[in-house]
Amino acid sequence: MTLTKKMNDKEVPKQGMLQNVMKQFDAASELMNLNPNIKKILSVANNELIIHFPVRMDNGDVEIFKGYRVQHNNALGPYKGGLRFHPTIDIDAVKALAMWMTWKTSLAGLPYGGAKGGIQMDPLKYSTSELERITRRFAYALGDNIGPEHDIPAPDVNTNAQTMAWIADTYMSTKTPSERSKNQHVVTGKPVGSGGLEGRDRATGFGVFLTIKYWAEYKNIDLKDKTFIVQGFGNVGYWASHFLQEVGAKMVGVQDAFGTIVNPKGLEVESLLNHTLANDGSILGFPDSEAVDKDSFFELECDICIPAALGNQITEERARKIKAFLIAEGANGPTTVEAEVILKDRGIDIIPDILCNSGGVVGSYFEWLQNRNGELWGLDEIMIKLDKKIKEVFKKVYETSQLKNLDMRSTAYMIAIERIERAYIQRGIFP
Ligand code: GLU
Repeated sequence: MTLTKKMNDKEVPKQGMLQNVMKQFDAASELMNLNPNIKKILSVANNELIIHFPVRMDNGDVEIFKGYRVQHNNALGPYKGGLRFHPTIDIDAVKALAMWMTWKTSLAGLPYGGAKGGIQMDPLKYSTSELERITRRFAYALGDNIGPEHDIPAPDVNTNAQTMAWIADTYMSTKTPSERSKNQHVVTGKPVGSGGLEGRDRATGFGVFLTIKYWAEYKNIDLKDKTFIVQGFGNVGYWASHFLQEVGAKMVGVQDAFGTIVNPKGLEVESLLNHTLANDGSILGFPDSEAVDKDSFFELECDICIPAALGNQITEERARKIKAFLIAEGANGPTTVEAEVILKDRGIDIIPDILCNSGGVVGSYFEWLQNRNGELWGLDEIMIKLDKKIKEVFKKVYETSQLKNLDMRSTAYMIAIERIERAYIQRGIFP
């Protein structure tokens, strides 16, 4: 399945993710009475790296690229988080995404901190060999700012297992021969066969599905015949839809960067995937579907809405029109703080991103452990472990939210931040 999609700058808000995550953090720190000194520490990223690097294009010209890596916090373990190749990537977007990773890994109880990075570019404009040189030159420029016990990148929007294989190979090539094989876990999300984890590709979407499943169990809702819409039919959107369809739920609307298609009777997920593979990644032209205006997507009749694309998609205006009773945030930061107030008023539940899409980084953790211990785990074992982990974290968030009469996002934030606060209090501040 291709992760590379057509970009449309106009559809993606360039600003706001950082403001959004800061507002969420402020609200949570107030609710939990966060130690003010620890609040100061967590309000900023530990390290922010901006790198300009040259790459030779196929036609012989040299192009300069801008790459980023922001390491937000490592109180609980090595920095962890994806690399995104997208025209809207800038320092503020990466800072926001890095902060979300700190909350996500802490909430999941992993021994990791949070980071994010990427390159400001549209990958569709480049050939595969150019993409390889861009990725490898970026990895080389990052040098030992990443490392298997220091900062571990992974796939994100428009990057995939191939991207990770190039980074791992480049990083390992800079080490002495006897050190090379010890460094395979410098990235996760590698291809199976190059140290990758069986099932890492489906881990995020499977996690999204599981959080919906456990939410429905608590609410006594049968997912069979429930309808859902999904924004983004990449890795996360496809796999979440695949697992929902398996339990009898019906996909009735999909949006990607090419357009929006609907069918109230249901769109068959596997056939749609095959259609996109045969049509340069586009969902458009899928038989038995009608193409509709992109602005109508969030107004579609459905029970569950899964934003699985980019940030800031659910705005106040869209929040007023959403028909779903549940929003499952497959993407990072898809709902603005202002929109969330409206959704709350309307009684629409949200499974927050740092919980909903945490299956990906949990899968990454399994891959890292597998590499570190020189083991190879089987798919069945991995899926069982993932399910167990997501169930445990979901239960903790859901039950605490009921107990404290709070929404799931505030609860998830409080649990995540408390764990980091505890580590700082135990260790103190150097010197
Ligand atoms: N990019 C994914 C995320 O946003 C995965 C990160 C990772 O596995 O390190 O959670």
